[in-house]
Amino acid sequence: MTQEAALQPALLVFTDLDGSLMEHETYSIEPAMPALQEVLGRGFALIMNSSKTAAEILALQKTLKLSAPFVCENGAALQLLSPAPDGQSRIVFGQLRSEWLPAVHAMRAEAGFEFEGFADWQPDKISELTGLDKADAELAQTREYSEPILWRGSAKQKELFESKLAQLGLNLLEGGRFHSIQGQHTKSDAMHWLKQQQSDASMIITVALGDSPNDSAMLDAADIAVIIKSGKSARIELHAAPQIIRTSRPGPAGWQDAMSQILAQLDSNELAIN
Ligand SMILES: [Mg+2]
Repeated sequence: MTQEAALQPALLVFTDLDGSLMEHETYSIEPAMPALQEVLGRGFALIMNSSKTAAEILALQKTLKLSAPFVCENGAALQLLSPAPDGQSRIVFGQLRSEWLPAVHAMRAEAGFEFEGFADWQPDKISELTGLDKADAELAQTREYSEPILWRGSAKQKELFESKLAQLGLNLLEGGRFHSIQGQHTKSDAMHWLKQQQSDASMIITVALGDSPNDSAMLDAADIAVIIKSGKSARIELHAAPQIIRTSRPGPAGWQDAMSQILAQLDSNELAIN
């Protein structure tokens, strides 16, 4: 290894899935495969950070023959490959759905809030709404920490609903397809945790890629934030990320464009280490 190569920092890549690494409608990753293979081929960590469930992400990792930590349900839990020093292999930032969903449903019945969510639907309804096949829809239903919903009431009612959720210690976050009821965690909590575990953080550059408002905290916590073009990406406002790339193409094509740009910058020593 040359001295220059030895000094090159490593990338720690956190990526949203739906609408970012995966095409919003078809869930195809194909257009991002060249850059994805290069990231993995160089030994950089690719950490999926998605609203998807652990079961869904594990199935996707298996398809890609990828073994890496991941973050499920909008930052609710970080699944590690091996136990942390305290013996845990899952670091939980969220609150168990089974402990709060009955209270949310009771509130809906009482106040007449108009929404439906995964708990109300059979897998075929979830397939219809998401385009997932039935087996994948069943994996999507194995939710542990969050409840995706479609809000059907007024904006004013939504504000009231959010304030009621806050009283339960819960939050409503906007994703690509659904709003998510969940604990007061974001996709950035696991990033901070993982960064603290790095023995030499000065040699790590964190990259985050996302397309929706629920990715904002993750994007803002990265050294390089990639905002993938989507119907909602114009509303993402960042305040802390030192470098921001907005892609001109949506989904995995935008992922490919941004990541090949970042890899080229890395190779020409144009990336600042923070
Ligand atoms: Mg997304």
